[in-house]
Amino acid sequence: MLRIGVDLGGTKIEIVALDETGNQRLRRRVPTPQGDYAATLATIAALVDAAESELGERGSIGVGIPGAESAGSGLIKNASSTCLIGKALRGDLQNLLQREIRVANDANCFALSEAINGAGQGAEVVFGVILGTGVGGGIVVRERVLTGTNRIAGEWGHNPLPYPDEETRPPPRCYCGRQGCVETWLSGPSLAADHARHGGETLTAKAIAAHADAGETDCAATLSRYHRRLAKSLAQVINIVDPQVIVLGGGLSNIGSLYTAVPALWASYIFSDQVHTQLRRHQHGDSSGVRGAAWLWNEH
Ligand SMILES: [Zn+2]
Repeated sequence: MLRIGVDLGGTKIEIVALDETGNQRLRRRVPTPQGDYAATLATIAALVDAAESELGERGSIGVGIPGAESAGSGLIKNASSTCLIGKALRGDLQNLLQREIRVANDANCFALSEAINGAGQGAEVVFGVILGTGVGGGIVVRERVLTGTNRIAGEWGHNPLPYPDEETRPPPRCYCGRQGCVETWLSGPSLAADHARHGGETLTAKAIAAHADAGETDCAATLSRYHRRLAKSLAQVINIVDPQVIVLGGGLSNIGSLYTAVPALWASYIFSDQVHTQLRRHQHGDSSGVRGAAWLWNEH
């Protein structure tokens, strides 16, 4: 059985074909047509057609998107690629490709990929986190995505950062209209903005982490604030879904200190005598999203 996954991103569209056991048989990547919905559909259809003729086999198709389907209408909402908003993406692709298609949020796909055969393999409950230009999350239970009644399960990025203190006042404004969302503290641009607010020079999140590693005290202080904020926000997730494993993805997941500093801090915010939850780095790198889209057809 061939499983095809498509990751529809803001800058690139990627396709992968996995065999029965998850081995990759094909992978391609093309630029996303900017702001053009019809061209986006045509690009996806062409990638699928080319993959299937190359492999000589028809597959199931899952698509990961930077947004979610509205539970009632099936139209896309919450998408950072705004040309998708309000569109019947799944229905349109089904018409083009003549089969049932599954669509899921890209953070859910990431979590699914890591839960099935990545850093969360074997865990009953996995929380997958994307820490990149935005912040997303997805919950996987027994190798299935927990979608939720409103299709927003795992969307912790626009919860307010909990346990406010003098370090988190005043809360920054978020593009969603609220203030102090987790994303306004934990995304890459938010880390850079926090450094600048504390009088630091304008640096990317990656540079701040590198300078902190090299012993620069201002950058180390910024990273230390980031550790505590991540610990606070993950503690609330642990209090609710109590996962065995939390897997980090996105650019900031490459900051090595997260995996020791954050678990050392989160215990004081978690309502438990012991905390066995493991915080792990992703195993499939930037191909987790597209692999997870293929695994949307994981039947068992
Ligand atoms: Zn927000």
